[in-house]
Amino acid sequence: MNNETKDLIKQKLDIVDIIGEYITLIPAGSNYKALSPFRNEKTPSFIVSPELQIYKDFGGDKSGDIFQFIMDMEGVSFPEALNILAQKAGISLKSYSKNTEFQVDNKKTLLQILSDSTKIYHAILKHMQYGQRGRDYLNSRGITDELIDLFEIGLAPQSYHTLSKKLSQKYSNTDIESSGMVISSDKNNIYDRFRGRVMIPIQDTLGRIVGFTGRVLPEYEDGKMGKYVNSPQTIVFDKSKILFGLSQAKIAIKSNNRVIIVEGQMDVIMSHKAGVKEVVAVSGTALTEQHITTLLRYTNKFILAFDNDKAGISACLRSAALITKKGGIVKVITINGGKDAADLVRENSDLWINAIEQASDFIEYYINNIVSKIKSEDTPAKNQALQILIAWIQDINDPITKNYYIKRLADLLNMSEKDIYSQLKTKNIQGEVNVKNHNIETPLIKLQKQIIAHLLYKPTNHDILILEQSLFTQPKLRDLFIKLREYCIQNSPQKLSLGECKQFLSEVEYTTLEELLLPILYKIEQLQPSELQTQQTIQENILLLKNQYKSLARKTLLKKLKEAKKVGDNTKIQEILKKYKTFT
Ligand code: ATP
Ligand code: MN
Repeated sequence: MNNETKDLIKQKLDIVDIIGEYITLIPAGSNYKALSPFRNEKTPSFIVSPELQIYKDFGGDKSGDIFQFIMDMEGVSFPEALNILAQKAGISLKSYSKNTEFQVDNKKTLLQILSDSTKIYHAILKHMQYGQRGRDYLNSRGITDELIDLFEIGLAPQSYHTLSKKLSQKYSNTDIESSGMVISSDKNNIYDRFRGRVMIPIQDTLGRIVGFTGRVLPEYEDGKMGKYVNSPQTIVFDKSKILFGLSQAKIAIKSNNRVIIVEGQMDVIMSHKAGVKEVVAVSGTALTEQHITTLLRYTNKFILAFDNDKAGISACLRSAALITKKGGIVKVITINGGKDAADLVRENSDLWINAIEQASDFIEYYINNIVSKIKSEDTPAKNQALQILIAWIQDINDPITKNYYIKRLADLLNMSEKDIYSQLKTKNIQGEVNVKNHNIETPLIKLQKQIIAHLLYKPTNHDILILEQSLFTQPKLRDLFIKLREYCIQNSPQKLSLGECKQFLSEVEYTTLEELLLPILYKIEQLQPSELQTQQTIQENILLLKNQYKSLARKTLLKKLKEAKKVGDNTKIQEILKKYKTFT
């Protein structure tokens, strides 16, 4: 290992810049903090030290220097991380390429093939006689030369051997085949996968081309091959991870703090024409959790612009549930008349810009599209739709997001927040842990009180702030915990006075605090525990609470199992057993 090169790169780069390209860093004393890019967390516990040039993920197990960060973030090996950072530092690494492992070499070759293919297709589109039909088609769709260059759009001629012949001069058939650009008919023969198509390269977050999507030219559209053809899964192209346009959108997403998700690549490209650059598309699949995790590195505000047909609406519901579950906020753009973003921009950029401005909050969208379309006399259907909405809110883990939506729902339905909370609670009671008499002081409740009292004593304690609210089985305590946590997360108070608590708690919550928690808090204060003792007590209590919760959950499930066995409900039995496993 050449340590000199490593040191040279470290001298040229600042860890704050490198990590800042991925996530938003907030100054915290002499350090920076952020939400960990490796986990889905609600309180920042990811620390970057400019002084030591290291990062540490306090809620996880990752820490290290810039090289380690790139390896963790991009999922690459050391030699590749070295390559990436050397490029950023403007250092050439020729002596290194010989030492890299086979896997890296292989990946490198593959990326090279994809990059060459891009150049070949782009040159055909721009400079060859044959490219004229591609240029005409793109122009007719309103795609300008600047956009063609920005996205490196190209053209694959209607021929079987244009690309394969060119690539064969430089690469082995095996390598060309593993890039996905060709198909092999037998051992020695390969032919072009993409023919008669406008070629749109797909980049990863680092801007490297990892695959293509090809839009058939109208004259070759036969309804058999599909309007769009994508690269197959390869070692660099994974549809469930890659988002089209992200590399071009990254900075705009961060600076506008929102991302617009559209269905097609053409929508992304045309949106750039309208000046809206914070746009990405999935490549012919549903939005996955991995997509969402990637986007959450840049923003938590998602705007969905799917087709307004049945499939589009259901994709929208599914995506929204996934996004909010992970802590994002969802808005929805509705475009009528069977049009998409590309159609709007082609007509007039303002139509697209206005549609974005008029995006409605997800709840509103759901009520307008689902609830209000159910005939007014159909009460059961209406109730069912509402139950779906309530279940959806129930699943939101982030207390701030959840409260936000409860408020919105109450507004839109002309209901009180209390009514909605009570609906949510009934659902909870039907859940796994069913505590019948809340007033009996079980060990489980004692622990819940201890933990909340410790949060009052130490409002910065991260271990408590990240606890699942469902662990607090006592509704009063759970509500209090949610409120306290929300306040602590938003305001990061070092100390919490009772006067301060009175400000943000409701009367009921404050009474709970006074009656149930003050005695414990006073005891803690009298003991004057050291930092370390406090930390140990908290961790012990949390561990005990988790174990007790699990054992209670198991007991409740065993009871249910007995009942299910009595009536011989096999699906129910399976379901209960599956749940039981998660609590062992
Ligand atoms: P265009 O405007 O070029 O006709 P579109 O984006 O309006 O295309 P849709 O039919 O609305 O096309 O499809 C939306 C997206 O779904 C496409 O942009 C493409 O990413 C993907 N898609 C469509 N058809 C296919 C297909 N046959 N195979 C794979 N992906 C497809
Ligand atoms: Mn279209």
